Amino acid sequence: RGKQLYEWMYRHGIVSFEKMTNISKTFRDYIKENCIICTLHVEKIIPSNIDESIKILFRTHDENFIETVSMIDGDRHTVCISSQVGCGLDCKFCETGRMGLKRNLSAGEIVDQLLFVKNYQTQLITNVVFMGMGEPFHNYENVINASNIFHSPFGFNLAASRITISTVGILPQIKKFINEKHKYKLAISLNASNDLVRSKIMPINKKWKIEDLIMVGKEYSKLKKRQVMFEYVLLKDINDSEDDAHQLANLLKDVSCKLNIIPYNETEGCFQRTEEENIMRFSKILHNYRGKFRVLIRWSKGQDINAGCGQLAVQNA
Ligand code: SAH
Repeated sequence: RGKQLYEWMYRHGIVSFEKMTNISKTFRDYIKENCIICTLHVEKIIPSNIDESIKILFRTHDENFIETVSMIDGDRHTVCISSQVGCGLDCKFCETGRMGLKRNLSAGEIVDQLLFVKNYQTQLITNVVFMGMGEPFHNYENVINASNIFHSPFGFNLAASRITISTVGILPQIKKFINEKHKYKLAISLNASNDLVRSKIMPINKKWKIEDLIMVGKEYSKLKKRQVMFEYVLLKDINDSEDDAHQLANLLKDVSCKLNIIPYNETEGCFQRTEEENIMRFSKILHNYRGKFRVLIRWSKGQDINAGCGQLAVQNA
């Protein structure tokens, strides 16, 4: 029965017990009485005017609000999901940080975000990224359980390499993740080329330093078929100088990794986006470096609806 339920919900995306026709009526009546199939209510769907992204505002059963973004780019359909209501890490450039942490999401609430998008959008989901609200490694068990459902052939059947967990750098949890040999992709938000700057913009750096993150990233990349991704949000006059680019290249030169440069998406904070010319100059320095890393600029989607990286914060709740 468990397997039947699992397949109805996660493989077929059925959100009503009534439709689970191969399950006996008595059992269906029992679960209808005792279980909840939808943990989230859709409060609002906001389509972007400049691309095919949509942002969904969900209300939880205890009147909290979270956001999910569906981004379509050609054949690629990436869903950016939330792992917590708010976030407790207080990264200075991130809008979610401003909300503080309310609570962790359950595995069901994480999965239901994807389930909704699967049913709402016609295009097949190709990628899932834990880059919405929250710090996934502060909600480790639920994030892993939800990822297992995304990956399972009886569930969403997504390849492990298409599920990315992005962390601020919670060292013990990253080590745990490596030791447990999960095949999901690991992304670490570096965001600075030295500890002085990183500690200013990401208070967590007082606990675990850049060097620790580079070491652990290297360890992850040594595993078969896995390569760590480092994320670097470019903030004007904070971490975007030529010197920063050289320092960053130096840090990463021996790590087999992907570097994702993210032009800052403006929020209500006091930071500014680096001018395009300087974004290109910064990435060119890294491109030209003979290191083991690959460089990519990530232009966020859906900025007109505040759906870009770091712009998720519930304003209209
Ligand atoms: N807590 C996790 C995941 C959420 S943020 C983490 O920190 O990795 C996902 C990515 O968006 C992170 O790399 C983060 O540094 C970046 N980000 C946060 N605010 C941003 C902003 N305003 N503009 C661009 N990227 C931002």
